[in-house]
Amino acid sequence: MNIFDEIESIARSTDNPHLEEARKHGRKVMGYLCSYVPEEILHAAGFIPYRLRAVESQGTDKGDRYFSALNCSFVRHCFDKAVRGDFDFLDGVIFFNGCDHSRRMYDNWWDLHRERKTGPGFLHMLVGPHKISQSALNRFTEELGKLIASLENFFGITISDKSLHNSICLYNEKRSLLAQVFAMRKGPQTPLTGAESIRLVLALNAVPVDKAISLLEQVLEACQTRAANKPGDLRLFIAGGCLEEADHLQLIEDQGAIVVADNLCLGARSVHTPVEEDMEFVPAIARRYLTHLSCPRMVNDFETRSRCFEEAIRDFSVDAVITDKLMFCDLWGGEAFLLKSEANRLGTPILTLEREMHGGGDGQVQTRVQAFFEKVANLKPEKA
Ligand code: SF4
Repeated sequence: MNIFDEIESIARSTDNPHLEEARKHGRKVMGYLCSYVPEEILHAAGFIPYRLRAVESQGTDKGDRYFSALNCSFVRHCFDKAVRGDFDFLDGVIFFNGCDHSRRMYDNWWDLHRERKTGPGFLHMLVGPHKISQSALNRFTEELGKLIASLENFFGITISDKSLHNSICLYNEKRSLLAQVFAMRKGPQTPLTGAESIRLVLALNAVPVDKAISLLEQVLEACQTRAANKPGDLRLFIAGGCLEEADHLQLIEDQGAIVVADNLCLGARSVHTPVEEDMEFVPAIARRYLTHLSCPRMVNDFETRSRCFEEAIRDFSVDAVITDKLMFCDLWGGEAFLLKSEANRLGTPILTLEREMHGGGDGQVQTRVQAFFEKVANLKPEKA
């Protein structure tokens, strides 16, 4: 099996052989729900951090008993999997107030836990401020302190400075390797499709960090001589929230494009900004997670996102932008509107897609994307 097949097989599954092997040797696995939950703290506490996902979802029927039909389909699919017991191999889950839909999963999981009395026994709500400021950083540092205390009390462990430092270094290494892979998409020969990038990040967030580093080293080597784009492919920037369906990105790319840059949870947001290694550890982690490339939950940070957007359009030679939002996602609804005016200002064509996760409608997406790409291709000579 080549490295990309191995990554795809991990990305398509809820559980995987690396986690199974680690659990056989007594390792515990801690689920988390959002890019604002610091993996370093979970790792320093002895857990393998595992990002919850909706892959292998069988629908939302069971999840819908707990959620409204007006909640986004990502949380409904994820929770449906929780109800079916797909995440019972986890020892706990850390939730985050990324948005009200995902935050609600915490309350529902407690109800589920009381009803079923099986599955993850440790459920913690990490609260993060919605603004970036010194007082917000202080507040987030306190919240991380509460998370540490809560893990220590529940599992009878101590999270030492030494283990925090070790975890910070390991996760910085992982981030730096992934950043190197993503940076290779700047050149005319793009070694990775957008679909492959999403699969890569999904896989990296579901295996022990040493395995993630080894996968990245192999990917980096394979990328030196690899070209995933075809002649004439448009170069795309894609922005969105909980977009984890690589096949959906593949469908878009199959219409004549390649994703070279993004602002996605399972993309650029995973690599942005290392944790400072020579600061006090918990404040350093708080700083990194609160100030890395943000998603629209950070209400006073659009200027930074807009600057990163403009840099990506320039540095990755982007021809067109797609914002891809799930229905009922207000955060990305507002952001898509703001990005549209930024793209117009930069003279870069933009298309907004709205859909349900695993909701079908491929034909409609294909038609809209084809029409958009034709328009962009017609504009290209004028731009040159
Ligand atoms: S897609 Fe939007 S609504 Fe759904 S969990 Fe993510 S941020 Fe929240």
